[in-house]
Amino acid sequence: MSRKLLIRGGHVVTMDPQLGDLPGADVLVVDGRIAAVGPDLGGSGGADATGPADATGAEVIDATGTVVVPGFVDTHRHTYQSLVRALLPSCTLGEFMGTIFNSVAPAFTPEFMRLGNHLGALDALDAGITTMVDWSPSETPDHADGAIEGLRRAGIRAMYAHGMPAGGQWWYRSELNHPDDARRIRAEHFASDDQLLTMALALRQPGNVVDAVAVNDWNLSRELGVRVSVHTAMRSGGATGSPVRELHRLGLLGNNTTYIHCTTTSAAEIAMIADSGGSVSIAPYVELVMGHGLPQITAMLDHGVAPTLSIDTVTTSPGDMFTQMRAALALGRAEALPADPEGAFTPQLTHRDVLRLATVDGAAACGLAARTGTLTPGKAADLVLVRADTIRTLPLRDPAGIVVSCADRADVDTVLVGGVVRKRAGQLVGVDLDRLRAEALAAHEAILASAGLQPSPVGDLRGTG
Ligand SMILES: [Zn+2]
Repeated sequence: MSRKLLIRGGHVVTMDPQLGDLPGADVLVVDGRIAAVGPDLGGSGGADATGPADATGAEVIDATGTVVVPGFVDTHRHTYQSLVRALLPSCTLGEFMGTIFNSVAPAFTPEFMRLGNHLGALDALDAGITTMVDWSPSETPDHADGAIEGLRRAGIRAMYAHGMPAGGQWWYRSELNHPDDARRIRAEHFASDDQLLTMALALRQPGNVVDAVAVNDWNLSRELGVRVSVHTAMRSGGATGSPVRELHRLGLLGNNTTYIHCTTTSAAEIAMIADSGGSVSIAPYVELVMGHGLPQITAMLDHGVAPTLSIDTVTTSPGDMFTQMRAALALGRAEALPADPEGAFTPQLTHRDVLRLATVDGAAACGLAARTGTLTPGKAADLVLVRADTIRTLPLRDPAGIVVSCADRADVDTVLVGGVVRKRAGQLVGVDLDRLRAEALAAHEAILASAGLQPSPVGDLRGTG
């Protein structure tokens, strides 16, 4: 007996170029996949539907007054840092790395990794992010197991990017190869690629490592058949030079790699990424606040590289995609300002472009284009109902405009991942929030104490209910 869900009467923004926008349409979900998209799938009609449209016996979710969009894809987040949320609201990249590497990361136990990832993944789901890349350092194998378990409990689609310990010996011209435990993790947790969680390697760029290590690590990714996510080319990043050019020299550029930040990547290097089929993840809010440099949104697009969007860390950024889309739209348009103040301002980037970066292009950068990113029959039902009838979002005129320019997470009414309802009527489903809150606050205080950081200025938060 198949399980059917009929999402009825929403304004469906499919992000599929063939299907476009469908006002007042239904989405039929059968056994976790999108079976059909079109008008009146539950009635006698359905003739205009794409895909087989038998909604008999379906549970109905009323989508009237909402915009239905593909779930957002966050292409890079250090998810465990949700336990130190807002620790560094205004910091430089150097201050961030000093605090995290020297104090915070060593204070994390495997259990805190699990809890931090659980909390962070729920934060993402609450905001309509249905797929995330967890860029995850691992002090020990137990830390890695904890991080994976946290993602699994949340029920999010995630690419777990296995990383190395935080110590300085791993990050400055390091001669230490990527931890061998990656092989165990691949065999133990990711024997199948056809599950909600997939695997990648979180690697270090040339400069952070010597050439031989870069070669070893990229070879490991090929041996394991997993993608690579690498922080690349930013101001004050601890590595100088042109890491993309170095990777090119070493023959390591490939379509399995996502380059994070790239604020100082030259035009020639962007062309190299494009030629190799690689993808890029920018974290516009964090890059501006911490000073990584100006995001190169237009430069990437001009070379045919999609600058997908990421949160990076909630020590400094909110955990939602609305903030990133708006920052990217504003920055990308500002890039078109002519040097001459009297010159014409003719920006090309639109709100629809950034919605595509946050959905379709993000999915492609995770190697998941066939599975998620658009509301196309056959793909997993990863979708979000954004309310278009709240005080922030009414009246509904341009549905993509409502989502990109007006909505925030309070307007995220319903979230499905693989057809499973993770948020409904504005509330996370099946989450014991009281228990999670108590555990997170206790962990937060323990981490601060262990890290030798000042306790919370508001005192014992557990007393505030
Ligand atoms: Zn990062």
